[in-house]
Amino acid sequence: MNSRTEKRIALISVHGDPAIEIGKEEAGGQNVYVRHVGEALGELGWQVDMFTRRVNLEQETIVQHTSNCRTIRLEAGSPEFVPRDNLFTKLPEFVDNLLEFQKNNHITYRLIHTNYWLSSWVGMQLKKIQGCSQVHTYHSLGAVKYNTVKTVPLIASKRLQIEKQILETAERIVATSPQEQQHMRSLVSSKGDIDIIPCGTDIQRFGCIDRTAARAKLRIDPETKVILYVGRFDPRKGIETLVRAVAQSKLHGSYNLQLIIGGGSRPGHSDGDERDRIEKIVAELGMTEFTSFPGRLSQDILPTYYAAADVCVVPSHYEPFGLVAIEAMASGTPVVASDVGGLQFTVVPGETGLLAPPQNVDGFATAIDRIIINPQWRDKLGEAARKRVVTKFSWDGVAQQLSQLYTELLQPTVKEAVLLSGVS
Ligand code: UDP
Repeated sequence: MNSRTEKRIALISVHGDPAIEIGKEEAGGQNVYVRHVGEALGELGWQVDMFTRRVNLEQETIVQHTSNCRTIRLEAGSPEFVPRDNLFTKLPEFVDNLLEFQKNNHITYRLIHTNYWLSSWVGMQLKKIQGCSQVHTYHSLGAVKYNTVKTVPLIASKRLQIEKQILETAERIVATSPQEQQHMRSLVSSKGDIDIIPCGTDIQRFGCIDRTAARAKLRIDPETKVILYVGRFDPRKGIETLVRAVAQSKLHGSYNLQLIIGGGSRPGHSDGDERDRIEKIVAELGMTEFTSFPGRLSQDILPTYYAAADVCVVPSHYEPFGLVAIEAMASGTPVVASDVGGLQFTVVPGETGLLAPPQNVDGFATAIDRIIINPQWRDKLGEAARKRVVTKFSWDGVAQQLSQLYTELLQPTVKEAVLLSGVS
């Protein structure tokens, strides 16, 4: 096999370490995506190297996930946590170290798949130097994000400029939902090649336990109505909307409600402020007794939480895809989500859950109550939800589609084919 057709790929995820614990600080969907895509591609015979930035000295330089999939941590600035908005100046060192790694290991990546705008810049530099083909997944679009935040960071104009450049120059952009593709076209550029390949989830892991067993394991009474949130503590995740919606539910008095807000790191980390703020609102609304904050939930225990819930709520102000929604759905639990972005693609209202306008407390309260009050309908929604994920959003299916795309991009051009065959 020559280097042109070799099944080798570098996945680049500067700030989203695929080997790190998920659910705290900035570790979320991107980390999960890169890791699962990498491992599933490895199963399909790809040699997968996933590059990320080292954030502390104790971290191993190389983490071997499977025989042909590994995470490689490169130095870029001093090894400490740096919020993503402050990472841009560290990137030239990241590029140098990635080139150095290739040289030392006699590897040249003909194909790279970059994740988030910071990595797209790294990829564009490698492309200039090495002529590789570049696939890019945004995970979040500045043009959308800056419409939903009050203060725009200093780096905003740089990010917007790079996000336009990558759309117009990458060999292929992967949008994870039709809604994301639409935003690219309407807010970023009409140029560039976009394929839609969704995010996936582990359909064996999520769905491996039923509600009764899950409740027994978590010691939750079978009659209690459980409302679940899973995700990072970030104001844009809309946890406040959920808390206020549960406070005004019409079901208090008729049912025992339990609100579980999972995710987040220990106090003192960058997401601690939002957690303190939410805990304060919970206390002010008199909900402390029936609200719990179990903290970061490992991927091993998460299926039990999803299965135990009557409804999983994803109240984000915006979500390009939203892995939590499909994890809950795969676990047979209906989802109430904001009517935005990728959630409009994954959640089919009235079939697998309900959608409510973002930040609309009344809308969320009504939707949550509708599902909880009708257990037969809830079960029907849950069954349809699982079915939808199994047919559309398994990691294996996603990796197959990516593998096909990569293979296509690695095909030699007509000119190269002629050169390779030695015909002049
Ligand atoms: N997650 C986790 N433990 C937690 C909280 C979140 O493993 O305590 C995982 C969750 O299962 C999902 C990911 O973090 O796979 C969050 O992805 P999503 O796309 O929903 O949101 P993002 O973090 O990308 O904004």
